[in-house]
Amino acid sequence: MAQTDLPAAFGFLASAHTGGGTIPAAVFATRGRRTPLSERLPTQTVDAVLVHPDDGSGGAHACDGDVLVLFAGEIYNRDEIDDALGSAANGANASDAEVVSGLFEKYGHHAFRLINGRYAALLVAGTRVLAATDHAGSVPLYVRPEPGHVLAATEVKVLAEAGGAIRGAPVPGTRRIRRLPGVHQVPAGAVLDIRVGTGEVTVHRTWTPPVHRRLVTESEALNNVRAALEKAVIRRLPAGRRPLVVLSGGIDSSAVAALSAGAATAGIDTLSMGTDVSNEFPQARVVAEHLDSRHRELTVGSEDLLALLPHTVHAAESLDPEVIEYLLPLTALYRRIDGPPRRILTGYGADIPLGGMHREDRLPNLDTAVAYDMDTFDGLNEMSPVLSAVAGHWSTHPYWDREVLELLTVLEAGLKRRYGRDKWVLRAAMSDVLPAETVNRPKLGVHEGSGTTASFSLLVRRAGVAEDDIAAVKARVVQQLFDLTVIGGVHPDDIAVEEIIGKILAEGRR
Ligand code: ATP
Ligand code: MG
Repeated sequence: MAQTDLPAAFGFLASAHTGGGTIPAAVFATRGRRTPLSERLPTQTVDAVLVHPDDGSGGAHACDGDVLVLFAGEIYNRDEIDDALGSAANGANASDAEVVSGLFEKYGHHAFRLINGRYAALLVAGTRVLAATDHAGSVPLYVRPEPGHVLAATEVKVLAEAGGAIRGAPVPGTRRIRRLPGVHQVPAGAVLDIRVGTGEVTVHRTWTPPVHRRLVTESEALNNVRAALEKAVIRRLPAGRRPLVVLSGGIDSSAVAALSAGAATAGIDTLSMGTDVSNEFPQARVVAEHLDSRHRELTVGSEDLLALLPHTVHAAESLDPEVIEYLLPLTALYRRIDGPPRRILTGYGADIPLGGMHREDRLPNLDTAVAYDMDTFDGLNEMSPVLSAVAGHWSTHPYWDREVLELLTVLEAGLKRRYGRDKWVLRAAMSDVLPAETVNRPKLGVHEGSGTTASFSLLVRRAGVAEDDIAAVKARVVQQLFDLTVIGGVHPDDIAVEEIIGKILAEGRR
Protein backbone atom coordinates (compact mmCIF):
# COMPACT_ATOMS: atom_id res chain seq x y z
CA MET A 1 0.00 0.00 0.00
CA ALA A 2 1.53 3.33 -1.04
CA GLN A 3 1.28 6.45 1.11
CA THR A 4 -0.57 9.68 0.66
CA ASP A 5 1.91 12.39 -0.11
CA LEU A 6 2.72 13.35 3.47
CA PRO A 7 1.72 12.07 6.91
CA ALA A 8 -1.14 13.85 8.67
CA ALA A 9 1.26 15.17 11.31
CA PHE A 10 5.03 15.50 11.72
CA GLY A 11 4.94 16.04 15.48
CA PHE A 12 2.94 16.97 18.53
CA LEU A 13 3.01 18.43 21.99
CA ALA A 14 0.49 17.26 24.56
CA SER A 15 -0.44 17.98 28.12
CA ALA A 16 -2.64 15.41 29.88
CA HIS A 17 -3.89 16.43 33.29
CA THR A 18 -6.42 15.56 35.92
CA GLY A 19 -6.68 19.06 37.36
CA GLY A 20 -4.95 22.15 36.07
CA GLY A 21 -1.97 21.88 33.79
CA THR A 22 -0.30 24.37 31.54
CA ILE A 23 0.96 23.68 28.06
CA PRO A 24 4.30 25.15 26.97
CA ALA A 25 4.79 27.18 23.79
CA ALA A 26 5.04 25.01 20.67
CA VAL A 27 8.64 25.90 19.79
CA PHE A 28 9.12 23.07 17.27
CA ALA A 29 12.00 23.20 14.80
CA THR A 30 9.61 21.33 12.49
CA ARG A 31 8.05 23.60 9.93
CA GLY A 32 4.32 23.25 9.47
CA ARG A 33 0.96 24.45 10.52
CA ARG A 34 0.15 24.23 14.21
CA THR A 35 -3.30 23.11 15.19
CA PRO A 36 -4.32 23.26 18.84
CA LEU A 37 -6.88 20.86 20.24
CA SER A 38 -8.45 20.22 23.58
CA GLU A 39 -10.41 17.14 24.63
CA ARG A 40 -12.10 16.49 27.93
CA LEU A 41 -12.16 12.75 28.64
CA PRO A 42 -13.98 11.20 31.62
CA THR A 43 -10.90 11.25 33.90
CA GLN A 44 -8.45 13.65 32.29
CA THR A 45 -8.20 16.60 29.98
CA VAL A 46 -5.77 16.72 27.07
CA ASP A 47 -4.52 19.94 25.50
CA ALA A 48 -2.33 19.45 22.48
CA VAL A 49 -0.73 21.10 19.47
CA LEU A 50 -0.16 19.15 16.27
CA VAL A 51 2.47 20.33 13.79
CA HIS A 52 1.54 19.19 10.33
CA PRO A 53 1.61 19.81 6.57
CA ASP A 54 -0.87 22.24 5.09
CA ASP A 55 -3.50 19.71 4.01
CA GLY A 56 -4.81 19.32 7.53
CA SER A 57 -4.11 17.23 10.57
CA GLY A 58 -7.41 15.32 10.73
CA GLY A 59 -5.78 11.91 10.35
CA ALA A 60 -3.36 12.53 13.21
CA HIS A 61 -5.86 12.48 16.05
CA ALA A 62 -8.81 10.33 16.99
CA CYS A 63 -11.12 10.57 19.96
CA ASP A 64 -14.12 8.40 20.69
CA GLY A 65 -14.97 9.90 24.06
CA ASP A 66 -12.93 7.41 26.14
CA VAL A 67 -9.73 7.02 24.16
CA LEU A 68 -7.71 9.79 22.56
CA VAL A 69 -4.86 9.13 20.12
CA LEU A 70 -2.30 11.57 18.78
CA PHE A 71 -0.17 10.17 15.99
CA ALA A 72 2.86 11.71 14.27
CA GLY A 73 4.24 9.80 11.31
CA GLU A 74 2.91 6.84 9.37
CA ILE A 75 2.22 3.11 9.36
CA TYR A 76 3.67 0.81 6.70
CA ASN A 77 1.73 -2.39 7.41
CA ARG A 78 -1.77 -0.91 7.18
CA ASP A 79 -2.90 -3.73 4.88
CA GLU A 80 -2.08 -6.35 7.54
CA ILE A 81 -3.60 -4.27 10.33
CA ASP A 82 -6.77 -3.57 8.35
CA ASP A 83 -7.12 -7.32 7.81
CA ALA A 84 -6.68 -8.00 11.52
CA LEU A 85 -9.24 -5.38 12.51
CA GLY A 86 -11.71 -6.32 9.80
CA SER A 87 -14.55 -3.87 9.39
CA ALA A 88 -14.27 -2.75 13.02
CA ALA A 89 -12.04 0.19 12.18
CA ASN A 90 -13.64 1.38 8.99
CA GLY A 91 -11.08 -0.48 6.85
CA ALA A 92 -8.79 1.31 4.45
CA ASN A 93 -10.55 4.67 4.94
CA ALA A 94 -9.60 4.93 8.59
CA SER A 95 -6.80 7.30 9.50
CA ASP A 96 -3.64 5.97 11.15
CA ALA A 97 -4.80 7.49 14.46
CA GLU A 98 -8.15 5.68 14.19
CA VAL A 99 -6.37 2.45 13.41
CA VAL A 100 -4.21 2.81 16.53
CA SER A 101 -7.36 3.40 18.54
CA GLY A 102 -8.94 0.28 17.01
CA LEU A 103 -5.84 -1.80 17.70
CA PHE A 104 -5.77 -0.58 21.30
CA GLU A 105 -9.38 -1.61 21.83
CA LYS A 106 -8.53 -5.12 20.68
CA TYR A 107 -4.98 -5.62 21.99
CA GLY A 108 -4.41 -3.03 24.74
CA HIS A 109 -0.87 -1.67 24.86
CA HIS A 110 0.26 -4.73 22.87
CA ALA A 111 -1.17 -2.85 19.88
CA PHE A 112 2.20 -1.18 19.49
CA ARG A 113 3.89 -4.55 18.98
CA LEU A 114 1.90 -4.95 15.79
CA ILE A 115 2.78 -1.75 14.00
CA ASN A 116 5.56 -1.47 11.45
CA GLY A 117 5.90 2.26 11.09
CA ARG A 118 7.75 5.51 11.53
CA TYR A 119 5.85 7.19 14.30
CA ALA A 120 5.46 8.55 17.79
CA ALA A 121 2.05 8.13 19.42
CA LEU A 122 0.29 9.27 22.54
CA LEU A 123 -2.76 7.38 23.69
CA VAL A 124 -4.87 8.56 26.60
CA ALA A 125 -7.37 6.15 28.13
CA GLY A 126 -8.95 6.11 31.61
CA THR A 127 -6.23 7.11 34.06
CA ARG A 128 -3.41 6.05 31.73
CA VAL A 129 -1.24 7.92 29.27
CA LEU A 130 0.67 5.69 26.85
CA ALA A 131 3.66 7.16 25.04
CA ALA A 132 4.87 4.90 22.22
CA THR A 133 7.67 4.87 19.66
CA ASP A 134 8.25 2.69 16.63
CA HIS A 135 10.84 -0.14 16.78
CA ALA A 136 13.65 2.25 15.86
CA GLY A 137 12.49 5.22 17.89
CA SER A 138 12.71 6.91 14.53
CA VAL A 139 10.33 9.69 15.57
CA PRO A 140 11.80 10.73 18.92
CA LEU A 141 9.37 11.16 21.81
CA TYR A 142 9.97 12.74 25.21
CA VAL A 143 7.83 12.76 28.33
CA ARG A 144 7.73 14.59 31.63
CA PRO A 145 5.51 12.61 34.00
CA GLU A 146 4.44 14.35 37.21
CA PRO A 147 1.59 13.52 39.57
CA GLY A 148 -1.58 14.77 37.90
CA HIS A 149 0.17 16.13 34.83
CA VAL A 150 1.99 14.45 31.94
CA LEU A 151 3.73 16.44 29.22
CA ALA A 152 4.88 14.78 26.01
CA ALA A 153 6.45 16.12 22.82
CA THR A 154 8.23 14.89 19.72
CA GLU A 155 10.95 17.53 20.20
CA VAL A 156 12.62 17.90 23.56
CA LYS A 157 13.11 21.66 23.12
CA VAL A 158 9.37 22.01 23.56
CA LEU A 159 9.61 20.43 27.02
CA ALA A 160 12.64 22.60 27.85
CA GLU A 161 10.34 25.53 27.18
CA ALA A 162 8.02 24.29 29.95
CA GLY A 163 10.68 25.15 32.56
CA GLY A 164 10.62 24.38 36.29
CA ALA A 165 10.19 20.61 36.45
CA ILE A 166 10.53 18.53 39.55
CA ARG A 167 13.18 15.85 39.30
CA GLY A 168 10.80 12.96 39.99
CA ALA A 169 11.73 9.33 40.39
CA PRO A 170 14.08 7.79 37.82
CA VAL A 171 12.33 5.70 35.20
CA PRO A 172 14.42 2.55 34.74
CA GLY A 173 15.08 1.73 31.12
CA THR A 174 14.66 5.29 29.83
CA ARG A 175 17.22 7.96 29.12
CA ARG A 176 17.24 11.20 31.06
CA ILE A 177 17.82 14.37 29.14
CA ARG A 178 20.81 16.49 29.95
CA ARG A 179 19.87 19.62 31.90
CA LEU A 180 16.15 18.82 31.91
CA PRO A 181 15.11 17.36 35.25
CA GLY A 182 12.13 15.04 35.04
CA VAL A 183 12.27 14.65 31.25
CA HIS A 184 12.83 11.19 29.72
CA GLN A 185 13.15 9.96 26.16
CA VAL A 186 10.85 7.07 25.29
CA PRO A 187 13.19 4.23 24.27
CA ALA A 188 13.07 2.84 20.74
CA GLY A 189 10.42 0.12 20.48
CA ALA A 190 8.71 0.89 23.77
CA VAL A 191 5.51 2.06 25.36
CA LEU A 192 5.69 4.10 28.54
CA ASP A 193 2.55 3.35 30.48
CA ILE A 194 2.05 6.35 32.77
CA ARG A 195 -0.52 6.57 35.58
CA VAL A 196 -1.55 10.17 35.36
CA GLY A 197 -2.62 10.40 39.03
CA THR A 198 0.79 9.45 40.44
CA GLY A 199 3.12 10.00 37.47
CA GLU A 200 4.33 6.39 37.90
CA VAL A 201 5.76 4.82 34.76
CA THR A 202 5.97 1.22 33.56
CA VAL A 203 8.06 0.50 30.48
CA HIS A 204 6.87 -2.18 28.05
CA ARG A 205 9.20 -3.16 25.24
CA THR A 206 7.54 -3.67 21.87
CA TRP A 207 10.66 -4.52 19.89
CA THR A 208 14.26 -5.44 20.60
CA PRO A 209 17.06 -5.99 18.11
CA PRO A 210 17.40 -9.71 17.37
CA VAL A 211 20.60 -11.28 18.70
CA HIS A 212 20.36 -14.61 16.90
CA ARG A 213 21.75 -15.15 13.41
CA ARG A 214 20.45 -17.29 10.57
CA LEU A 215 22.45 -19.51 8.24
CA VAL A 216 20.80 -19.46 4.83
CA THR A 217 21.97 -20.14 1.32
CA GLU A 218 23.23 -17.29 -0.83
CA SER A 219 20.22 -17.42 -3.10
CA GLU A 220 17.73 -17.45 -0.25
CA ALA A 221 19.47 -14.49 1.35
CA LEU A 222 19.51 -12.51 -1.90
CA ASN A 223 15.90 -13.24 -2.70
CA ASN A 224 14.74 -12.34 0.80
CA VAL A 225 16.70 -9.09 0.92
CA ARG A 226 15.49 -8.04 -2.50
CA ALA A 227 11.85 -8.85 -1.73
CA ALA A 228 11.84 -7.19 1.69
CA LEU A 229 13.56 -4.04 0.48
CA GLU A 230 11.29 -3.77 -2.52
CA LYS A 231 8.23 -4.07 -0.29
CA ALA A 232 9.58 -1.45 2.09
CA VAL A 233 10.28 0.96 -0.76
CA ILE A 234 6.86 0.45 -2.32
CA ARG A 235 5.16 1.05 1.03
CA ARG A 236 6.94 4.39 1.24
CA LEU A 237 6.20 5.72 -2.25
CA PRO A 238 3.69 8.55 -2.65
CA ALA A 239 0.59 7.29 -4.48
CA GLY A 240 0.69 8.50 -8.07
CA ARG A 241 3.42 11.08 -7.42
CA ARG A 242 7.16 11.25 -7.99
CA PRO A 243 9.22 10.38 -4.93
CA LEU A 244 12.49 12.17 -4.31
CA VAL A 245 15.46 9.91 -3.56
CA VAL A 246 18.54 11.50 -2.02
CA LEU A 247 21.23 9.75 -3.99
CA SER A 248 24.95 9.54 -3.30
CA GLY A 249 25.70 6.86 -5.86
CA GLY A 250 26.68 4.46 -3.05
CA ILE A 251 24.99 1.07 -3.05
CA ASP A 252 22.47 1.92 -0.29
CA SER A 253 20.79 4.91 -1.90
CA SER A 254 21.27 3.53 -5.43
CA ALA A 255 19.33 0.40 -4.45
CA VAL A 256 16.49 2.52 -3.06
CA ALA A 257 16.50 4.64 -6.22
CA ALA A 258 16.44 1.57 -8.46
CA LEU A 259 13.54 -0.06 -6.61
CA SER A 260 11.65 3.25 -6.54
CA ALA A 261 12.18 3.70 -10.27
CA GLY A 262 10.90 0.17 -10.84
CA ALA A 263 7.68 0.83 -8.93
CA ALA A 264 6.87 4.55 -9.21
CA THR A 265 4.67 4.91 -12.25
CA ALA A 266 5.19 8.69 -12.36
CA GLY A 267 9.00 8.30 -12.42
CA ILE A 268 11.46 9.46 -9.79
CA ASP A 269 13.51 12.52 -8.90
CA THR A 270 17.01 12.17 -7.52
CA LEU A 271 19.15 14.72 -5.78
CA SER A 272 22.86 14.70 -4.94
CA MET A 273 24.79 17.06 -2.78
CA GLY A 274 28.47 17.92 -2.76
CA THR A 275 30.72 20.61 -1.35
CA ASP A 276 33.61 22.57 -2.79
CA VAL A 277 35.87 20.12 -0.92
CA SER A 278 34.46 16.86 -2.18
CA ASN A 279 31.52 15.27 -3.97
CA GLU A 280 30.23 12.00 -5.40
CA PHE A 281 28.56 13.62 -8.40
CA PRO A 282 30.05 11.38 -11.12
CA GLN A 283 29.04 8.22 -9.23
CA ALA A 284 25.50 9.49 -8.61
CA ARG A 285 25.15 10.54 -12.24
CA VAL A 286 25.90 7.01 -13.42
CA VAL A 287 22.92 5.78 -11.40
CA ALA A 288 20.63 8.66 -12.36
CA GLU A 289 21.32 8.07 -16.05
CA HIS A 290 20.86 4.33 -15.70
CA LEU A 291 17.48 4.82 -14.03
CA ASP A 292 16.48 7.77 -16.18
CA SER A 293 15.62 9.85 -13.15
CA ARG A 294 15.08 13.60 -13.14
CA HIS A 295 18.38 14.40 -11.46
CA ARG A 296 19.74 17.48 -9.71
CA GLU A 297 23.10 18.34 -8.18
CA LEU A 298 23.57 20.81 -5.37
CA THR A 299 26.90 22.26 -4.32
CA VAL A 300 27.20 23.78 -0.89
CA GLY A 301 30.28 25.74 0.17
CA SER A 302 32.05 23.98 3.03
CA GLU A 303 31.90 27.17 5.13
CA ASP A 304 28.14 27.35 4.55
CA LEU A 305 27.91 23.70 5.51
CA LEU A 306 29.74 24.23 8.78
CA ALA A 307 27.51 27.19 9.57
CA LEU A 308 24.68 24.64 9.73
CA LEU A 309 26.18 22.71 12.66
CA PRO A 310 23.91 24.51 15.15
CA HIS A 311 20.90 23.80 12.91
CA THR A 312 21.76 20.11 12.78
CA VAL A 313 21.97 19.83 16.56
CA HIS A 314 18.79 21.89 16.93
CA ALA A 315 16.92 19.55 14.58
CA ALA A 316 18.36 16.18 15.61
CA GLU A 317 18.67 16.98 19.32
CA SER A 318 21.57 14.53 19.42
CA LEU A 319 24.70 14.83 21.56
CA ASP A 320 26.72 12.40 19.46
CA PRO A 321 29.38 14.23 17.43
CA GLU A 322 29.65 11.45 14.84
CA VAL A 323 25.92 11.41 14.25
CA ILE A 324 25.95 15.18 13.89
CA GLU A 325 28.69 14.82 11.27
CA TYR A 326 26.64 12.29 9.32
CA LEU A 327 23.56 14.47 9.51
CA LEU A 328 25.17 17.79 8.68
CA PRO A 329 25.31 17.29 4.88
CA LEU A 330 21.75 15.97 4.94
CA THR A 331 20.63 19.07 6.86
CA ALA A 332 22.15 21.23 4.14
CA LEU A 333 20.55 19.11 1.45
CA TYR A 334 17.04 19.07 2.91
CA ARG A 335 17.08 22.79 3.60
CA ARG A 336 17.82 23.51 -0.04
CA ILE A 337 14.99 21.47 -1.48
CA ASP A 338 12.71 24.26 -2.56
CA GLY A 339 9.17 24.10 -3.86
CA PRO A 340 6.32 22.21 -2.24
CA PRO A 341 6.91 19.69 0.57
CA ARG A 342 8.26 16.38 -0.71
CA ARG A 343 8.26 12.76 0.35
CA ILE A 344 11.95 11.81 0.43
CA LEU A 345 13.40 8.29 0.44
CA THR A 346 16.95 7.78 1.70
CA GLY A 347 19.46 4.95 1.85
CA TYR A 348 20.24 5.87 5.42
CA GLY A 349 21.05 3.23 8.01
CA ALA A 350 21.88 0.17 5.86
CA ASP A 351 25.37 0.09 7.31
CA ILE A 352 24.17 -0.52 10.85
CA PRO A 353 22.69 -4.04 10.41
CA LEU A 354 25.20 -4.85 7.62
CA GLY A 355 28.31 -3.59 9.41
CA GLY A 356 29.29 -1.56 6.34
CA MET A 357 31.07 1.17 8.23
CA HIS A 358 33.54 -1.13 9.92
CA ARG A 359 35.62 -2.27 6.95
CA GLU A 360 36.20 -5.46 8.89
CA ASP A 361 37.17 -8.79 7.28
CA ARG A 362 37.07 -10.95 10.39
CA LEU A 363 33.57 -12.31 10.84
CA PRO A 364 33.55 -12.49 14.66
CA ASN A 365 34.59 -8.85 14.82
CA LEU A 366 32.09 -7.87 12.17
CA ASP A 367 29.23 -9.52 14.03
CA THR A 368 30.37 -7.96 17.31
CA ALA A 369 30.26 -4.56 15.62
CA VAL A 370 26.77 -5.20 14.24
CA ALA A 371 25.51 -6.36 17.64
CA TYR A 372 27.06 -3.34 19.31
CA ASP A 373 25.63 -0.86 16.81
CA MET A 374 22.18 -2.44 17.02
CA ASP A 375 22.38 -2.22 20.81
CA THR A 376 23.44 1.40 20.98
CA PHE A 377 21.52 3.29 18.28
CA ASP A 378 18.77 4.29 20.68
CA GLY A 379 18.76 7.96 21.67
CA LEU A 380 21.11 9.05 18.87
CA ASN A 381 18.14 10.35 16.83
CA GLU A 382 19.88 9.53 13.56
CA MET A 383 16.60 8.80 11.83
CA SER A 384 14.74 11.82 13.16
CA PRO A 385 12.24 13.24 10.65
CA VAL A 386 12.90 16.72 12.05
CA LEU A 387 16.06 16.93 9.89
CA SER A 388 13.93 17.31 6.78
CA ALA A 389 10.79 18.61 8.50
CA VAL A 390 12.60 21.88 9.32
CA ALA A 391 12.10 22.54 5.62
CA GLY A 392 8.61 21.01 5.52
CA HIS A 393 9.68 17.70 3.92
CA TRP A 394 9.01 14.15 5.11
CA SER A 395 11.90 11.68 4.99
CA THR A 396 11.67 7.93 5.31
CA HIS A 397 14.33 5.22 5.48
CA PRO A 398 13.49 1.84 3.88
CA TYR A 399 16.48 0.01 5.43
CA TRP A 400 15.00 0.74 8.84
CA ASP A 401 11.65 -0.69 7.94
CA ARG A 402 11.01 -3.17 10.74
CA GLU A 403 11.02 -6.18 8.42
CA VAL A 404 14.09 -5.13 6.45
CA LEU A 405 16.02 -4.28 9.59
CA GLU A 406 15.21 -7.61 11.22
CA LEU A 407 16.10 -9.54 8.10
CA LEU A 408 19.43 -7.77 7.59
CA THR A 409 20.38 -8.01 11.26
CA VAL A 410 19.85 -11.75 11.53
CA LEU A 411 21.84 -12.69 8.42
CA GLU A 412 25.07 -14.36 9.48
CA ALA A 413 28.15 -12.18 9.13
CA GLY A 414 29.54 -14.26 6.26
CA LEU A 415 26.71 -13.01 4.03
CA LYS A 416 27.44 -9.40 4.94
CA ARG A 417 31.15 -9.68 4.21
CA ARG A 418 31.80 -12.14 1.36
CA TYR A 419 34.22 -12.50 -1.55
CA GLY A 420 36.15 -9.53 -0.15
CA ARG A 421 33.15 -7.17 -0.37
CA ASP A 422 31.31 -5.28 2.35
CA LYS A 423 27.48 -5.39 2.29
CA TRP A 424 27.82 -8.29 -0.17
CA VAL A 425 24.27 -9.55 0.24
CA LEU A 426 22.80 -6.17 -0.67
CA ARG A 427 25.15 -5.68 -3.61
CA ALA A 428 24.35 -9.12 -4.99
CA ALA A 429 20.61 -8.62 -4.45
CA MET A 430 20.68 -5.46 -6.56
CA SER A 431 23.09 -6.54 -9.29
CA ASP A 432 20.47 -6.88 -12.02
CA VAL A 433 19.07 -3.35 -11.70
CA LEU A 434 22.21 -1.25 -11.20
CA PRO A 435 25.39 -0.73 -13.22
CA ALA A 436 28.25 -3.04 -12.20
CA GLU A 437 30.42 -0.09 -11.19
CA THR A 438 27.74 1.01 -8.70
CA VAL A 439 27.27 -2.50 -7.33
CA ASN A 440 31.00 -2.89 -6.77
CA ARG A 441 31.78 0.58 -5.47
CA PRO A 442 33.39 0.60 -2.01
CA LYS A 443 31.52 2.35 0.75
CA LEU A 444 31.99 6.06 1.26
CA GLY A 445 30.25 7.53 4.31
CA VAL A 446 27.97 10.52 3.87
CA HIS A 447 30.39 12.58 5.96
CA GLU A 448 33.33 11.40 3.86
CA GLY A 449 31.77 11.91 0.44
CA SER A 450 30.89 15.50 1.29
CA GLY A 451 34.14 16.24 3.14
CA THR A 452 32.23 17.08 6.33
CA THR A 453 34.55 15.31 8.76
CA ALA A 454 37.51 17.03 7.18
CA SER A 455 35.88 20.46 7.39
CA PHE A 456 34.72 20.15 11.01
CA SER A 457 38.18 18.89 12.02
CA LEU A 458 39.80 21.71 10.05
CA LEU A 459 37.66 24.28 11.84
CA VAL A 460 38.75 22.92 15.20
CA ARG A 461 42.37 22.61 14.07
CA ARG A 462 42.37 26.19 12.79
CA ALA A 463 41.44 27.35 16.29
CA GLY A 464 44.73 25.87 17.46
CA VAL A 465 43.52 22.57 18.92
CA ALA A 466 46.16 19.83 19.10
CA GLU A 467 45.55 16.77 16.90
CA ASP A 468 44.95 14.48 19.89
CA ASP A 469 42.28 16.79 21.29
CA ILE A 470 40.21 17.25 18.15
CA ALA A 471 37.66 14.53 18.88
CA ALA A 472 37.14 15.74 22.45
CA VAL A 473 36.71 19.35 21.35
CA LYS A 474 34.21 18.33 18.67
CA ALA A 475 32.19 16.50 21.33
CA ARG A 476 32.25 19.61 23.54
CA VAL A 477 31.14 21.78 20.63
CA VAL A 478 28.14 19.54 20.01
CA GLN A 479 27.29 19.56 23.73
CA GLN A 480 27.43 23.36 23.82
CA LEU A 481 25.27 23.59 20.72
CA PHE A 482 22.74 21.28 22.38
CA ASP A 483 22.72 23.37 25.56
CA LEU A 484 22.26 26.59 23.64
CA THR A 485 19.79 25.62 20.92
CA VAL A 486 17.77 22.79 22.50
CA ILE A 487 17.81 23.66 26.19
CA GLY A 488 18.48 27.41 26.04
CA GLY A 489 16.15 28.28 23.17
CA VAL A 490 18.81 30.22 21.20
CA HIS A 491 18.04 30.33 17.49
CA PRO A 492 20.68 28.40 15.50
CA ASP A 493 21.12 31.37 13.14
CA ASP A 494 22.39 33.39 16.10
CA ILE A 495 25.29 31.06 16.88
CA ALA A 496 28.83 31.27 15.52
CA VAL A 497 30.62 27.94 15.89
CA GLU A 498 34.06 29.59 15.93
CA GLU A 499 33.07 31.57 19.01
CA ILE A 500 31.96 28.40 20.75
CA ILE A 501 35.28 26.73 19.98
CA GLY A 502 37.08 29.83 21.29
CA LYS A 503 35.12 29.69 24.56
CA ILE A 504 35.78 25.97 25.00
CA LEU A 505 39.51 26.56 24.55
CA ALA A 506 39.49 29.52 26.94
CA GLU A 507 37.73 27.39 29.57
CA GLY A 508 40.30 24.66 29.05
CA ARG A 509 43.15 27.09 29.69
CA ARG A 510 41.66 28.35 32.93
P1 ATP B 1 27.39 3.54 0.87
O1 ATP B 1 27.11 3.28 2.33
O2 ATP B 1 27.75 2.30 0.16
O3 ATP B 1 28.29 4.69 0.66
P2 ATP B 1 25.24 5.34 0.48
O4 ATP B 1 26.17 6.42 0.09
O5 ATP B 1 23.96 5.27 -0.25
O6 ATP B 1 25.93 3.94 0.32
P3 ATP B 1 25.69 6.33 3.18
O7 ATP B 1 27.05 6.73 2.74
O8 ATP B 1 25.57 5.56 4.43
O9 ATP B 1 24.93 5.45 2.05
O10 ATP B 1 24.80 7.65 3.29
C1 ATP B 1 23.52 7.58 3.89
C2 ATP B 1 22.44 8.14 2.98
O11 ATP B 1 22.50 9.57 2.96
C3 ATP B 1 22.54 7.75 1.54
O12 ATP B 1 22.01 6.46 1.30
C4 ATP B 1 21.78 8.83 0.82
O13 ATP B 1 20.38 8.63 0.86
C5 ATP B 1 22.14 10.04 1.65
N1 ATP B 1 23.34 10.68 1.09
C6 ATP B 1 24.62 10.47 1.45
N2 ATP B 1 25.46 11.25 0.76
C7 ATP B 1 24.69 11.96 -0.09
C8 ATP B 1 24.96 12.92 -1.09
N3 ATP B 1 26.19 13.33 -1.36
N4 ATP B 1 23.92 13.43 -1.80
C9 ATP B 1 22.66 13.01 -1.55
N5 ATP B 1 22.36 12.11 -0.61
C10 ATP B 1 23.35 11.58 0.11
MG1 MG C 1 27.96 6.70 0.90
